[in-house]
Amino acid sequence: MTLQKKKQAELKLKESNERYNLISQATNDMVWDWDLLTGKIYRNKAGWKKIFRTGEDEIKNGSLDDWDSRVHPDDKDKIKIVKENILRSTQDFFEIECRVRRNDGTYAFILDRGNIVRDADGKALRLIGATQDITERKKAEEALILTLIEKNTILESIGDAFFATDTNWVVTYWNNHAEKMLGVAKKEIIGQYLWDVFKDSVDSVSYKKYQEAIATNTSIQFEDFYAPMERWYEISAYPSDRGLSVYFKDITERKYSDIQLKELNSSLQLQAKELVLSNTELEQFAYVASHDLQEPLRMVTSFLTQLQKKYGTIIDDRGKQYIEFAVDGAKRMRQVILDLLEYSRVGRTEGQHDIIDLNELVDEIKILFRKQIQEKNAVIVSDILPSVQGFISPVRQVFQNLISNALTYAKKDIEAQININCSTFDDYWQFAVSDNGIGIDPEYFDKIFIIFQRLHNKDEFSGTGLGLAVTKKIVENLGGKIWVESEEEKGSTFYFTMKKQLEGIK
Ligand code: ADP
Repeated sequence: MTLQKKKQAELKLKESNERYNLISQATNDMVWDWDLLTGKIYRNKAGWKKIFRTGEDEIKNGSLDDWDSRVHPDDKDKIKIVKENILRSTQDFFEIECRVRRNDGTYAFILDRGNIVRDADGKALRLIGATQDITERKKAEEALILTLIEKNTILESIGDAFFATDTNWVVTYWNNHAEKMLGVAKKEIIGQYLWDVFKDSVDSVSYKKYQEAIATNTSIQFEDFYAPMERWYEISAYPSDRGLSVYFKDITERKYSDIQLKELNSSLQLQAKELVLSNTELEQFAYVASHDLQEPLRMVTSFLTQLQKKYGTIIDDRGKQYIEFAVDGAKRMRQVILDLLEYSRVGRTEGQHDIIDLNELVDEIKILFRKQIQEKNAVIVSDILPSVQGFISPVRQVFQNLISNALTYAKKDIEAQININCSTFDDYWQFAVSDNGIGIDPEYFDKIFIIFQRLHNKDEFSGTGLGLAVTKKIVENLGGKIWVESEEEKGSTFYFTMKKQLEGIK
C-alpha cells in the first residue's frame, strides 16, 4: 500500500469512527462494534446503562463485557444459532430478539440488529450493530394478544351466536354458535360477502334492520324468524367504523310459549264470556222459575187454608195435622222461592248510586230486628262507620244477613254480644261482624257460603241456607271478599271488604 493510500484509508477510518461516535450519542440504542478477530467489543456506555439500569460507578471496563452472563438461559441457544449462522453463511445482516437480565434481576426484551463486515473471502471480520430495548413494545403486544385471546374466548363461550363484518359486509368473525344457529360453517363464510352467502335474506327484516343501524349509526334490537332453521332469534346489531357486530339469541321456546299463552288467554276470555252468558241464563232461569212457582204455590196454600176453614169440623185431628204440615211446607217453600229470587236478583241494580250512611243503615236494621234483639237479650255495638256510595238495597242485605245470623246462631244461655267494626285500608274498608254465638267448625268455613248449605236442621234453627250465598254474591259483585273466622262454642266473626273507589266516599 502506498503512503498516500494508507493516509486515505486512515482518513476514511477516522471519518467513519467520528460518524459512529455521533450516531452513538444521538441514538437511544446501545451501539456496539465487535471485532471478531481480536474478540474486542466496544459498547456505548449510555445505552448499556439504560438497558441494564446500571449506575455510573458500576460501568467499569469489565462490566461492559458482561453480556453473555446476562442472556436469559432460555434464549442462549437461539443466540448460539445466530452466531453460527453469521460465521458460516454469507449474509451481511442479522437480527435477533432475546431477553437480558438487568441489574435489578428483571429481564429486558431487546432487539439486536447489525451488519456483518466480511473480507474478500466472505469471512466475518467485524459486527457493527445496535441494541434496542423493546420491553414496552413487547408488553403491549402481549397485552394485545391476551385481550384478543380473551375476546375470542368470550365470543366463543357466550351462549349467543356472534358475527362481525367489515364496512363492505365482508365477514370477519363467525363464532361456533353462529355456525350452529345459522347453519353455515366458519370456513364457508369468513372473508365472504355476507349477502352472497345469505342471498335469500336480502330484503328480510334483519337485512333492513342492519341497514337502519348503519344508516343511523345506532345499535338496534329486534326479533326475526329465520325460516331455513325454523327458529326465532332476538338480534342485537352494533355498527362501528370497522363494520357491524351482530349477536343472536335463540328465543324460539319463549316465542312459542308466548304464542301458546296468547292462545290460552283468548280461549280463557272466550270461556269467561261463555260463563257470563250461561250465568246470566241461569239467573234468568232461576228468576223466571221462582217467579212462576209462586203462583201455583199460592194456590196450594190458599186451597189448604180453605180446606181447613170449610171442612175443619169434619176432619179428624190427624187430618188437621196433615194440613198443618202441608201449609208449613208450602210456607217454607215460599221462603226458599223468595230467597232464590233475591239471589238471582243480586247485581241487577239499576239507576243512580246512593250515598249510604252505614251508621243509619245499622240503626234501621236494629229496628227491624227489634223483636229478636229483645228475645235474645242481645247487645249490638258498632264502631263509627263510614258513608259509602252504592246501591242501598244490596249493601243493606249484607249487613242485615250477617246481623240476622249473629242473632239466629246466638247461644241460648248467655246474652248475645254483637260487634260491628270497621278498619280502613288504602283503597278499601274491611268490616267485621262478630258474635259470641255457637260458632262454626272450621271444616265448614267454605261450605256455608254455598247456596242451600246449612249446618243445622230446620227444627234447631230455621233458615233456607241462602243468606250467606246471597251475601257473598253481593260482596263479590262490589269487588270485595268475604270470609269467616270462628271457634265452636266461642263465636264467629264474618269479615268482608268493600272498595272505596266508585262505591265509597268518606
Ligand atoms: P241460613 O238460612 O241457614 O242461616 P246462611 O247461608 O245464612 O243460611 O248460613 C249458612 C249456615 O252457616 C247456617 O245454617 C249456619 O249453620 C252457619 N252460620 C251462619 N252464620 C253463623 C253464625 N253467625 N254463627 C254460627 N253459624 C253460622
